[in-house]
Amino acid sequence: MAKKSRSGKEPELETLAIHAGGRPEGTYGAVSTPIYQTSTFAFEAIGKTRGGYDYSRTANPTRKVLEETIARLEGGKAGFACATGLAAATTVMHLLRAGDHVISGDDIYGGTFRLFQNIISRSGIEFTFLRLDDRAKLEAAIRPNTRMLWLETPSNPLLNIIDLEMVTGVAKKHRLLTVIDNTFSSPYFLKPVEFGIDLVVHSTTKYLNGHCDVVGGAIVTTTDELTERMQFLVNGLGTCASPFDCWLVLRGIETLAVRMQRHQENAGAVADYLANHPKVKRVYYPGLPSHPGHEIARRQMKGFGGIVTFELGDTGSATRFLENLEIFTLAESLGGVSSLAAHPATMTHASMPEEHRLKVGISGGLVRLSVGLENIRDLVADIGQALETV
Ligand SMILES: *Cc1c(COP(=O)(O)O)cnc(C)c1O
Repeated sequence: MAKKSRSGKEPELETLAIHAGGRPEGTYGAVSTPIYQTSTFAFEAIGKTRGGYDYSRTANPTRKVLEETIARLEGGKAGFACATGLAAATTVMHLLRAGDHVISGDDIYGGTFRLFQNIISRSGIEFTFLRLDDRAKLEAAIRPNTRMLWLETPSNPLLNIIDLEMVTGVAKKHRLLTVIDNTFSSPYFLKPVEFGIDLVVHSTTKYLNGHCDVVGGAIVTTTDELTERMQFLVNGLGTCASPFDCWLVLRGIETLAVRMQRHQENAGAVADYLANHPKVKRVYYPGLPSHPGHEIARRQMKGFGGIVTFELGDTGSATRFLENLEIFTLAESLGGVSSLAAHPATMTHASMPEEHRLKVGISGGLVRLSVGLENIRDLVADIGQALETV
């Protein structure tokens, strides 16, 4: 597909997922993007490369196709494919310097919290972790040295929803850079750029790849200045993804739309089932009208995603439930075709100090389900039999 169609109209997401980045490729017409498994490229002459490629840390043709695809799915300027989601976050944080202050959502991914709190903060960058649910509270946290707002919506694992219009309104007024981790929604459900977000990051490990067979990350920019700075940082830090991993993510993205539709259908049915089960204390799913962020989610998202979190009251009950599942696999991660179940307190959020974890509501009785693409009757039956043992 050409960079611009003859009509000048940007194709829909389903089409971009399969054709953006120049697929089929131009040399031999390969419909599946070739894996350019090479570290370096022959120069034609001194100072003259072929197509701008000289060394794969700087740029690689397979990576380029993925980068352009993700950028267009998000409606941004340029994309960068990183080794992992945390490599993408690490790269973005290098936009800052000692003395800068960041306001971050307080219930972000545990590994991002650890990156900020235990690693990036050692370079003299300060963090305030805040529930981003109120304009006045957010404005009160802004200091003269605040440079960046870091958001995750729906958040992990409690699926809290942030009102993006509210946050970008405040950010524009105070000239703050806004960064969103869009891993949970994927561009299929949420396009943060449409709300004025400056940078989008992803753990492509999750829904974009969708098959639990790669770790990867991505960054999408919205201005030429940010694109230039990101190119410099990805190359300078060496945080880029390998050609083979890029190929796997590209292949996953081709089915993003159909996967997300079914993830959401199955997750909605699981949430309804859990909400009516006597042993379940509370269900967190933005698609349920009882969810505090339901109205905002309905307004800013095209759907509610495939993650359902629920409360069983205590660690013992959560343990019995998780250890008796037969189809759901007890595992970290999410967003793949295969249903996974996790215990956030001891798994995904173990890197968060207990005090902070309990403050944001991640208790020992909490269970997070990444609802996959198996038959919904089998999934509900599996949850039902595991709840019997609680
Ligand atoms: C998994 C995850 C990350 C980290 O990504 P990796 O690919 O594991 O480094 C960041 N944010 C969210 C929301 C995630 O789920």
